[in-house]
Amino acid sequence: MAKYATINPATGERVAEFDVISDAEARQITDRSSAAYTAWKKTDLAARTEVLRKMATLHRERAEELAAILTLEMGKTKTQALGEVALVANIYEYYADKAPEFTADEPLDITGTGSAYVRTEPIGALVGIMPWNYPYYQVARFAAPNIALGNTIILKHARNCPQSALAIEKLFHEAGLPADVYINAFASAAQISEMIADPRIQGVSLTGSEKAGSAVGEVAGRHMKKYVLELGGSDPFIVLDDADLDATAAAAALGRLGNCGQACTASKRFIVLDAVYDAFVEKFVAAVNTYQTGDPTDAETKLGPMSSNEALTDLDELVQDAISKGATVLAGGAKQDSPGSFYSATLLSDVTEDMRAYKEELFGPAGVVYRVKDEAAAIELANNSPFGLSSSIFTTNQARAEKIATQLEAGMVWINSTSRSAPDLPFGGVKLSGVGRELARFGFNEFSNKKLVRIP
Ligand code: NAP
Repeated sequence: MAKYATINPATGERVAEFDVISDAEARQITDRSSAAYTAWKKTDLAARTEVLRKMATLHRERAEELAAILTLEMGKTKTQALGEVALVANIYEYYADKAPEFTADEPLDITGTGSAYVRTEPIGALVGIMPWNYPYYQVARFAAPNIALGNTIILKHARNCPQSALAIEKLFHEAGLPADVYINAFASAAQISEMIADPRIQGVSLTGSEKAGSAVGEVAGRHMKKYVLELGGSDPFIVLDDADLDATAAAAALGRLGNCGQACTASKRFIVLDAVYDAFVEKFVAAVNTYQTGDPTDAETKLGPMSSNEALTDLDELVQDAISKGATVLAGGAKQDSPGSFYSATLLSDVTEDMRAYKEELFGPAGVVYRVKDEAAAIELANNSPFGLSSSIFTTNQARAEKIATQLEAGMVWINSTSRSAPDLPFGGVKLSGVGRELARFGFNEFSNKKLVRIP
């Protein structure tokens, strides 16, 4: 079975590897997590939030060291890796600050005599399954609220970021989290299925592809377990005829190429009104061409390698399929002839429905520009996707944007900005982009028991 391994995507060098745990170890992990829950749920909220506060401090103190692991394992540029660590510290701190409010009893406005309230309680041991694109952030937005709530966590991270996974577990222990409240498991998919089926596991949260989401959701559904799925996206970026084109083009390039294009909420489909199409595309291509690939450990580098050769091959297949069927290459269009998984910043136009790039997610530094005749056509094309994660609208008319926002089939709409993430903003999608929400109060509530208490 494929091991968990660190393979430096900038060089292709296999740096370290870790065995998948045995089936017996996997079962012991479930035992340990469930035993830890019985004690952890009874601890004072202040003790739980103190761990999160310490996590925030440790991330800030060790930012350079933690960021370097991300760069080594998945090629994130140094500047963006430091950005991820800073965001993660804020997530831990946010839930430390907000947990008292989020766990406070909620009085109900009832008919009849007496009173009633809803008490927020933990539900038990949970399984988290996370991807490699933001290795610390994906874990933090699941772990922080649940640890504050009193749940325990078994975390299966992606196979190509084992050292990031181990770093998180170590930090939790240094922050004072009792053993077994958070357990890193280098598990297989079969072992994860067995864990989800175990009656002592109460829920599962997965961030990843639709394929993994549907496999995990199927097991969870069969065993009546709560699940949250944060899946793919093919986010539209709508440029209206009154947009500030310089600012919009710069935002478009960053929205497509940040994290080397490997973000679920990256802008992927640029839908531009005919009146400004030519002017916008000229500026967009110029902005994309400023993203030259380079050494991800260099703070000046804007575009690092993709996370792996497999990721690069998957992206290139979609790009070459489009080109072979008549798409126009506005920038890039190929992998680079160098060691490592480097792909040129790419922009395509004339993409049609018979091309895979029209419907599938381009998970890397390649975007598609579409020309549409008017606003109604922009909305129709934006919604013509199996995904519904985030979206952006660029215009100088806020009221117009807010009207369009209501018509977009998406979990998030950003006006004059590309999609970002912050601790206090709910995150999640509709359609094939998933089920449930993370972050803010919404993420806190996903794995809680909202217990009614009725007093006559
Ligand atoms: P992936 O292949 O689905 O992997 C994600 C995680 O799921 C990994 O830990 C993987 O483990 C695990 N996994 C896969 N199949 C599984 C199964 N049958 N049972 C249990 N675990 C399983 O995703 P990826 O290709 O690495 O990540 C990119 C995808 O994630 C993109 O589609 C992206 O849009 C999406 N994403 C979504 C969000 C969001 O919040 N909506 C955020 C980031 C990324 P192994 O590594 O061992 O295969």
